[in-house]
Amino acid sequence: MKLQTRATLAFSLIALFCCLVTGVFISQKTLKSHREQAISFLTSINIQKKARIEQWLVNASNTLDLLASMPVFHDNFSQKLAQKEQQGIKEKQIFLQELTTLHLAPVVAQNLFTEIFILLVPQGEVLLSTDSHQVGKLMVNRDFFTRGQKQNYIENVHYSMTLMQPSMLISTPLKNGGDSSYGVLVGRLNLAKLSAIVEEHNSFWTTEDSYLVNNQNFFITEPRYGQEYMLRKTVHTHGVTEVLSGHSGASIYNDYRDVTVIGSYLYLAERNLGLLTKIDQEEFLAPNQQIQRQLVGIGFAVLLLTFFISWFFAQTLLRPLGHLVDKLNRVSGENLEYSVSSSGLYEIQQISVAFMTMLVRLKETLVSRNMLQREVEQRKSAEQQLQHALERVKQSNTELEQFAYVASHDLQEPLRMVSSYNQLLAQKYKGQLDEKADKYIHFAVDGAARMQQLIQDLLSFSRVTTKGKEFEEVDLKEIFEITKKNLELTLEENQVEITADALPVIQADAVQITQVLQNLISNAIKFRQDEAPKIHISARDVAGVWECSVRDNGIGIDEKYADRIFIIFQRLHTREEYQGTGIGLALCKRIIERHRGKIWFESELGKGSTFYFTLPQRS
Ligand code: ADP
Repeated sequence: MKLQTRATLAFSLIALFCCLVTGVFISQKTLKSHREQAISFLTSINIQKKARIEQWLVNASNTLDLLASMPVFHDNFSQKLAQKEQQGIKEKQIFLQELTTLHLAPVVAQNLFTEIFILLVPQGEVLLSTDSHQVGKLMVNRDFFTRGQKQNYIENVHYSMTLMQPSMLISTPLKNGGDSSYGVLVGRLNLAKLSAIVEEHNSFWTTEDSYLVNNQNFFITEPRYGQEYMLRKTVHTHGVTEVLSGHSGASIYNDYRDVTVIGSYLYLAERNLGLLTKIDQEEFLAPNQQIQRQLVGIGFAVLLLTFFISWFFAQTLLRPLGHLVDKLNRVSGENLEYSVSSSGLYEIQQISVAFMTMLVRLKETLVSRNMLQREVEQRKSAEQQLQHALERVKQSNTELEQFAYVASHDLQEPLRMVSSYNQLLAQKYKGQLDEKADKYIHFAVDGAARMQQLIQDLLSFSRVTTKGKEFEEVDLKEIFEITKKNLELTLEENQVEITADALPVIQADAVQITQVLQNLISNAIKFRQDEAPKIHISARDVAGVWECSVRDNGIGIDEKYADRIFIIFQRLHTREEYQGTGIGLALCKRIIERHRGKIWFESELGKGSTFYFTLPQRS
């Protein structure tokens, strides 16, 4: 799948996910807050209705009390009634009729009561009533009569079998001024008023429904969706069960129609009634569903927008990037000559330019790498050639050494013959021939002797490598002592003052190092000045090697001869001045080099010389 497609899809999916999460979150939140709002609203309706019911009952009770306290019922009513009775039945009926018409009927006309009547104590007989059919009836065992004699009494709603309809009575005692009551004033409440309070709809919800239930689960008022349910039908919903157990609260439950509702219920403890107000869940959910639909719409719009934005970005950013990647792929396929065009977004152009710069540098690096490779190869081949040459030199060196050794060895025999016959000639014919002949014989003898010496020297020079011994640990102090012993006579003759510092143990061929020390001390004595020779030997550790030195107070050496004096048979003086063949220092150099060391000197003419040589330390 292409990068653009992938990016577009990825962005869209992310947006979809975000929309879903946000949508679910918002709708859950709104639903919850709406539910809480609805419940608190329904609860407040219940509270208001309860207050109004109480108010209605208080009004009724007060009205009845007011009536009972009127002078006509209060001042000597029993006596007046007795007088009227004495005056005759007609008089009494007129009296009672007047009372009904003047005092009770106007109260009934206010619509608070449907009927008002007076019961006589103790008979319980209806003395007078706004409903003439009730006069003369006995109601002696009824609560409103027995309890109404003592105080105000409000009877709960019940179904009146005589009236064949629901009824609710309020009673209050009638007294002649004293404590005992002569009668009970009873008012039958106009329940239409109660229904009007309970059934009144306060909210914008069309399914709002309030009703009262009594403790036998009967409807006390007509519910919105019922006809003649009042005291005819029982109800057993969750809300009703809860409220009749004395609880007040709210919940979602199925109502008397088996429709799911959100309801609030309030227990009216004094009346032992439950007041329920509810709305259909469907109506409640309707605005939420609308919000959900709106959210889906917004989500879809966001999704579409994201799709277009990501598509736009893919086109403007990723497509040129894709092209660039294609081109870079071609370049990475070793085609360094490929040129990447710098078109598209500014950043893409920058990348292209940076890449081209990198490519140029890469090319340069490759060129220098190739050059370096060639150089390395050349060096390798030069090294190989050098190695070959070295091996050849080594070989010819060995051959030469062999040759020098063999030649000097083999030359010794004929030379000895030449020398001994020359000496014989000199002995036998000295003084017998002319002076010139004696001189020539002397030259021949001397030449042969010198030649013998040279060959001896050459032989010892080549023996350094051919006859050298294995290196071992030797004490330089001991070597110094041996050397002193070897040169005992010379040292004494020349009154040499020879001293040494503490000398180390070294890794060396003891015989050869003795040779070196002996040669250097001999030279220090040989090239002395007039004063007695002073020679000092010392050694110090310099970067892991022993640097040994032999210092004298002799004639000194011009430093321009630094190299020359170490070459075989090279001398700075004639034989007449100082004896010797010029082999000594060459031999020392060869021995020290065999020990992987160096030899050199520091000197000033007339002020003595110091010869240095290095030797390996103990391993
Ligand atoms: P030889 O002693 O046989 O001449 P060497 O090889 O020992 O040969 O010395 C080479 C030359 O170096 C000597 O001829 C001499 O001129 C010079 N030389 C060596 N040692 C000393 C020294 N300690 N003081 C002055 N000159 C020296």
